[in-house]
Amino acid sequence: MRPGAPILRFAPSPNGRLHLGHAYSALLNADLARQMGGLCRLRIEDIDPVRAKPELVEAIFADLAWLGLTYPEPVRHQSRHRDAYRATLDGLIGRGLAYPCFCSRGQIRARAAARAGNPHDPDGAPLYPGTCRGLDPAIGAERLARGEPHTWRLDMAAALRDAGDPLSYEAFDAAETRWVAADPARWGDAVIARRDVPTSYHLSVVHDDAEQEITHVVRGRDLEAATDLHVLLQRLLDLPTPRYHHHGLILDPDGEKLAKSRGSQSLADLRQAGATPEDIRARLGFA
Ligand code: GLU
Repeated sequence: MRPGAPILRFAPSPNGRLHLGHAYSALLNADLARQMGGLCRLRIEDIDPVRAKPELVEAIFADLAWLGLTYPEPVRHQSRHRDAYRATLDGLIGRGLAYPCFCSRGQIRARAAARAGNPHDPDGAPLYPGTCRGLDPAIGAERLARGEPHTWRLDMAAALRDAGDPLSYEAFDAAETRWVAADPARWGDAVIARRDVPTSYHLSVVHDDAEQEITHVVRGRDLEAATDLHVLLQRLLDLPTPRYHHHGLILDPDGEKLAKSRGSQSLADLRQAGATPEDIRARLGFA
C-alpha cells in the first residue's frame, strides 16, 4: 500500500450472527478500499461482557471468509484494550469533562418523563436530565469508594466549552465530499463508560479509529447521529477526524432494520439454504 493511502474498517459486534446488513457494510467497505487503492481493516467490537461471545467471533471470521473477504493482521479485538480505554476515560475525568452517574435506567426514565416535552436522544432513549452532574464531588467519591454501580457521563456543556470552535466533519460519497455540521448537544450528557466496562461504544470507537489510523469510516445510517458525538470526542482527545460515509440500511420485507431479535435470516441461514457468496453480492446490488 502506498503511503497516505486510505484506510477503512469493518467493525462488527459479536452479539449475534452476521446478517445481510453486515454483509452489505463489509462488502461496501472492501469495494471502496479497493477502488480507492487503500485497505480495509477488521475490528471486533466485543466490549459487551455478556453479549459478546467467542463462538460468535469465530462465526464472524467464518462468514467473512465465506464472502471472500480477507483482512490484514492483526485484527483488533476491543476486549483486549480495556486499559487503553480506561486511561482515555481517566484523562477526561481528570479534566473535569466526565462525572459518575449513579442513576438507574428507571430513575432516568421517570425524571426525563417529568420534564417539559420528555426529550429523547437521537437513539430514542430519554435524554439524561443531569441528575448526578451537580453531585458534591466528596459524596461522589464516597459512593465510588463503596463500589456503587455507576456509569461515567460526558459533561456536555463543559465538553462543548473545551472543544471551542463549532464542530464539523467531511461526509463523502461517490459524487462529492461536503462538510457537515455536528451537533453533539442533542445527545445530552452521553454515557462514555458503561456500568460493566470502563468504556462505551462511543469512547472505544473513537479511540480505535485513531489507533488503527482509519481515514474513511463507512457504516450504516443508523450511526449517523453518533458521528456528532464522535467528532466531539475526537476534538477533546486531540485525535484526527476521519471522513464519513453513512450508507443506507438493508431492511427486512416489513421495512424494518434487520436484527436477530426480529428473526432476520443470518448469513449462516442463507448459506445453509443454498445461497452462494455470489448470490449475496447480487442480492445486495454489488457487481
Ligand atoms: N460495532 C458496530 C455495529 O456492529 C459498528 C460500529 C461502527 O461501524 O462504528 O453496529
